Amino acid sequence: MWVYRLKGTAWELDPLIPELFAKGARGLEEREGEVLAYFPTPLDLPFGGRWEELPDEDWIEAWRRDLKPVRAGPFLVLAPWHPKEEEGIPLVIEPGMAFGTGHHETTRLALAALARHLRPGDKVLDLGTGSGILAIAAAKLRAEAVGVDVDASVLPQAEENARRNGVQVRFLLGSLEEALPLGPFGLVVANLFAELHQDLAPLYPQALAPGGRLLLTGILREKAEGVRGAMGEAGLKPLEEVAEGDWVLLAYRR
Ligand code: SAM
Repeated sequence: MWVYRLKGTAWELDPLIPELFAKGARGLEEREGEVLAYFPTPLDLPFGGRWEELPDEDWIEAWRRDLKPVRAGPFLVLAPWHPKEEEGIPLVIEPGMAFGTGHHETTRLALAALARHLRPGDKVLDLGTGSGILAIAAAKLRAEAVGVDVDASVLPQAEENARRNGVQVRFLLGSLEEALPLGPFGLVVANLFAELHQDLAPLYPQALAPGGRLLLTGILREKAEGVRGAMGEAGLKPLEEVAEGDWVLLAYRR
């Protein structure tokens, strides 16, 4: 087995991930400042990484063994092979190409905030659904959930994850504009990035029902000020701010 080592975080390298899988990567792992992509044989890749041969071992088994369940708010995020023994609302997510396994701070911030802000009967929009994890979590809390993503390749995985969890979620290709006809929503959760939240600011109030909650993450601490300004201009009222590591979640009310 060979490993292709790339400098950067999984977040920064997110656009490369589908390409690595398309080229035959069998799995990915994030370690301090590096993303490791595992391949059966080395090949010519244009991404500036470094190849290294690994000792012969059952690396898939080792990776599966090392992947731990993750706690976030009332949820316990599990891979399909984890036993459902611990307490918590189980979210079974296949770790694969789509972002959203609970191993990133922003997903955990969003899961915990979702549980705090969801009100009975809310319709929920998960904008940038990835693995579908946030929409699935909302559905587990009995919300009617919609998940949208601009990346068509994640949608079958999100559908499969919803099926694994025994919940109904409507997934569709697109962004906030495509989701507007399905609203208004009592809660919108969006794990994207600061600049995109700023661009979407004028549209967010249109997606929300009166009194609706908006949970924004994917925001690095140093970029939060720009998002605060844009949401203020859009007339949204701040509710709370929560941080984990370098990342923040900003919550608003319409
Ligand atoms: N919701 C999951 C979570 O919290 O772990 C995944 C979040 S991942 C950081 C961001 C996702 O947003 C990606 O799947 C990406 O394809 C999608 N995305 C990026 N730009 C978008 C946009 N303008 N509208 C909708 N989705 C977008």
